[in-house]
Amino acid sequence: MNVRRPRGTNDILPEDVGKWQFVEAKIRELCHRYGYHEIRTPVFESTELFERGIGEATDIVEKEMYTFTDRSDRSLTLRPEGTAGVVRAFIENKLHAQPLPAKLYYIGPMFRYEKPQAGRYRQFSQFGIEAIGSMDPFLDVEMITLPIELYRACGLDGFQVQVNSIGCPECRGEYRAVLRQHLGERVHQFCENCQRRLDRNPLRVLDCKNPKCQELVEEVPPITDYLCGECADHFRQVLQYLDQLSVTYELNPKLVRGFDYYTKTVFEITVPTLGAQNAIGGGGRYDGLVEEIGGIALPAVGYAVGMERLLLALDQQENTSYPQRHPEAYIAHFGGMTKTAAVKIVTELRKQGLWVELDYLDRSLKAQMKSADRFNCTWVIIVGEAELEHNTVKVRNMATGKEYDVALSQIKEFLTGAREE
Ligand code: AMP
Repeated sequence: MNVRRPRGTNDILPEDVGKWQFVEAKIRELCHRYGYHEIRTPVFESTELFERGIGEATDIVEKEMYTFTDRSDRSLTLRPEGTAGVVRAFIENKLHAQPLPAKLYYIGPMFRYEKPQAGRYRQFSQFGIEAIGSMDPFLDVEMITLPIELYRACGLDGFQVQVNSIGCPECRGEYRAVLRQHLGERVHQFCENCQRRLDRNPLRVLDCKNPKCQELVEEVPPITDYLCGECADHFRQVLQYLDQLSVTYELNPKLVRGFDYYTKTVFEITVPTLGAQNAIGGGGRYDGLVEEIGGIALPAVGYAVGMERLLLALDQQENTSYPQRHPEAYIAHFGGMTKTAAVKIVTELRKQGLWVELDYLDRSLKAQMKSADRFNCTWVIIVGEAELEHNTVKVRNMATGKEYDVALSQIKEFLTGAREE
């Protein structure tokens, strides 16, 4: 049997897990300071939730969902994004009865049947934040400043913030008509995808990556010229806060994003050196979604970070902020009674909070010293019969080669004391 991992999935090996844990620790610390609370929702949901929430005419719902029928004939879908599930949980658990806005965050796997390439997978992880129950434009800004702080805390440089407003359903309706009028007669020059979009979801034509389509939409007037009074006012306040907080951003009138639920402000953060898949996160307001999927009408805003892409960007920039961990000590022994003593020492030191390794393969002292070296241990504790008779062990400093006789009862004190010197 030659079973391989499914296309578009990744194994995260122990040598890389430390990087994930480093980023996750930064996320949890930041969310704590910003008052976001973790929520864990199912990895699969009723298909209907995504059809209604994300929108039937979106790429995700049309062709990227992992949908299956379970043994009771229910249609279920592996979540392609986090917002719909969080909003469903918000409604189902009546979180609106708690102080608003509800500020929630999640970290977890998402699934999309996309064409895999560097930075684009079929299973990938997102860290997302959602604030439900307030129209405050400062919340839109928080959705930009929190990720910026995260990226910086992880050691990332060179990212760019893009902002736009796509208005509410009313102003968007007017803009759709303008778009169709501008682009209608050239419909046949667009890529196949956009020809379909022009009819069903014309805004998506604006951010098609096809160079020919990009050229065709160049002359289209920006959506921000068609915002209604309320949307224009909201956007003005968002930009004012961004300026006040000295956030560098670029206005991108072509930024529309892939889900139907977005309203008003949308944003994306990119790292241009990542190439084709350069967005390391994005989000926006979704003032109609809570009501759309059965809750009371409450405005909301969210952002999601692509974890793999963030880690790719950090690797590319040879990030050195990752903590390097290695065992404090390696215990070498010679089998027999020295192994028995080594087992006791290792257990005791671990209980006292140290990371200690020992030989499990009955190897020679030379091989054990090599292992200690490979582990990058500072200390090797050599448990020999002669020393045991005096209730001592030899402790070698691997950097200097110096050896010390240390009483069995004093090993921890010796190691930690020597570490603090
Ligand atoms: P979205 O949910 O499409 O708004 O995406 C938010 C972020 O998730 C993007 O900016 C990417 O960083 C990441 N992302 C989206 N799709 C994928 C994918 N197929 N593979 C890896 N990362 C992804």
